[in-house]
Amino acid sequence: MASNEVRKDYLLNRWVVIAKERKKRPTDFVKKSVEKEEGVCPLCPGNEHMTPPAVLVYLSSNGEIRKESDQNGFRHKDWLVRVIPNLYPAFTPPDEKPVMVKESSVLARAVGHHEVIIESPFHNEHPGAARVSQLVHVINAYLDRLTDLSGKSYVKHVTIFRNHGREAGASLSHAHTQLITTPFIPRILEDELEASKSFWTKNHACLLCNVLAKERESPRFIWENNSFVVFAPWASVNPLEFWVLPKRHQSNMLAMSGGEAEDLAETMRVCLGGLRSLLNDPPYNFGFHTLLKKDARECYHWHLEVYPRLAVWAGFEKSTGMFINTISPEDAAAELREAVKAEKKGLQ
Ligand SMILES: [Zn+2]
Ligand SMILES: [Zn+2]
Ligand SMILES: [Zn+2]
Repeated sequence: MASNEVRKDYLLNRWVVIAKERKKRPTDFVKKSVEKEEGVCPLCPGNEHMTPPAVLVYLSSNGEIRKESDQNGFRHKDWLVRVIPNLYPAFTPPDEKPVMVKESSVLARAVGHHEVIIESPFHNEHPGAARVSQLVHVINAYLDRLTDLSGKSYVKHVTIFRNHGREAGASLSHAHTQLITTPFIPRILEDELEASKSFWTKNHACLLCNVLAKERESPRFIWENNSFVVFAPWASVNPLEFWVLPKRHQSNMLAMSGGEAEDLAETMRVCLGGLRSLLNDPPYNFGFHTLLKKDARECYHWHLEVYPRLAVWAGFEKSTGMFINTISPEDAAAELREAVKAEKKGLQ
């Protein structure tokens, strides 16, 4: 009997079992049930009064984008993108001068911001089906919020993430992304930075620049355009997981040019669209790994990690932090490559 493989992550001290013997086909994961719509959608146009005042709205004015915010009691209408504070925030802004988290402390106030980026006035304009021009607005809104929030003294990290589908934690089905700032850098990011730093010290090169060059030529390659490369990571923890990396070395998303933002929009559209068509709109999460710290600039390479929610993590995973993936990244990439190609063709 051929044995399974155990693979280590590029950056993290994390191992995954690629279970060849329990191998499944990607089509085993095709979503069957259709989610029922909830009642009135608070994120749809016309229901702005059901949400807190927007911290940012994009309005179209004579072919240009005008950026505004809502004032108490007043809500802008006819927006293209709208960013609001989360009604049930995990982190809240400080009312007085915040006390910083000390390294030795085990208790701190959950100081920060928790926002919802409403990606479109159209309820179902999710990135896998969106107009690329709309996704450019969404990415620009990410960058605007990143710029604004990262300037605050109590913000040490900004996480931009998306829950798609109820099984992936989305309580509302309207197209939206979330953003949470934390008063410290979360562990996975800290570990990625440490690994990147030590690689830099030894090799005077960026670890993920190296990974990108290798994976572009590997059986795990999925897609590329002028500015981005997409591949299934060597030690994928999730079935059909894929990562998006900028070709040009950048430690954080704010270094993106306008052209690169457009290329990112296209990349997200075709890759999430490929996943959607391959598995009938499966649930997924994604998260941007981007670091604002100065000491990350040379060694750290920002990226987007996309995790389809197709497997249930049970006792072994939860108690060990080690994972079993029943579909190899090579098989995942082969299927996604075709689906993404078809998606790109459909766009033209
Ligand atoms: Zn809606
Ligand atoms: Zn790099
Ligand atoms: Zn990462």
